[in-house]
Amino acid sequence: MYGFEMGPIRPPSEANSILLRVTRNCPWNKCEFCGVYKGEKFSIRSVEEVKRDIDVMKAHGLTSNSAFLQDANSIIMKPEQLAEILVYFRERFPEVERVTTYARADTLSRITPENMKLLKESGLDRVHSGYETGSDTILKMIRKGTTRDQQVRGGLKVKEAGMELSMYFMPGVGGRDLSEENSRETAGVINEVDPDFVRLRTFVAKPGTPMGEKVEAGDFVPCTDEEKVAEIRRMLEQVEGCSGMLVSDHIVNLLEDVRGSLKTQKEEMIRKIRDFEEMDPFEKRRYQAARRMGFIRRPEDMNRLPEDLSAQITGIVRKFETAEQWEDFLNYFLERYI
Ligand code: SF4
Repeated sequence: MYGFEMGPIRPPSEANSILLRVTRNCPWNKCEFCGVYKGEKFSIRSVEEVKRDIDVMKAHGLTSNSAFLQDANSIIMKPEQLAEILVYFRERFPEVERVTTYARADTLSRITPENMKLLKESGLDRVHSGYETGSDTILKMIRKGTTRDQQVRGGLKVKEAGMELSMYFMPGVGGRDLSEENSRETAGVINEVDPDFVRLRTFVAKPGTPMGEKVEAGDFVPCTDEEKVAEIRRMLEQVEGCSGMLVSDHIVNLLEDVRGSLKTQKEEMIRKIRDFEEMDPFEKRRYQAARRMGFIRRPEDMNRLPEDLSAQITGIVRKFETAEQWEDFLNYFLERYI
């Protein structure tokens, strides 16, 4: 329609970025929680084709101070080809200050330091990587196809090349059985890599994905909404000596204002979680319902709810008799956000 290709997703932080598709779909495509590219074949676009897209974007007058390379693991492209695209794009869009991409940890761990440096010098500034968890047991269970060792080596390489690393953590992805392990091992990876950003993506078992089917079959016991928040607290409690930012930039996160500097605001973030955990149980549910229905972002916002809406929420919360019904209600909304 526009004369250039566009992939299906980008990180929320790239909402205003120019989206440049250099590869199509995901070369791995086996993560059990992910349905984004299921049934789609991975391919690498030719340099000429991508350059044509860049020219068309320019002709359309597209402009932004940032750009994002699509799709799921574009860094798998030959480094010299990706570098050529980056240089061409930078020449055509000199106003762009930041170019970022998604990259899988296994690919990052295999790229040579020289090639990583080449990509940085050609104009790549930040890598977003879905680490999800630092636990090898959970990585295997969700078929992520990466290891903790690759996460550490790949992440350090990104930083050594002078790029920013944005890693994603999924509270709850190991289920109740591996909840402690998820916090502990993820904190371990954060401590070793010290990423610039740790982005929270609360895990939701989406129906239709293998993880969703495991929940249906009773083979995976999901964490409750509260247990997922406790994982974030425990992860924070075990993070030491890091200087990056914890970022909460997705509506699936229950407490959106648990974010800040891991260096200077760690205690403040832990306190916010504890404040939630210590809330009166009924008020806590009222908050969860209001948040999951998309009305508010943090517990303080409850005071700003219009009276009639607040009363409706109270009525809704009173309807649920069992913990299972309650979680089903919350998940009904969560599944719509992913
Ligand atoms: S989560 Fe990322 S790496 Fe895994 S299948 Fe989905 S797009 Fe591919």
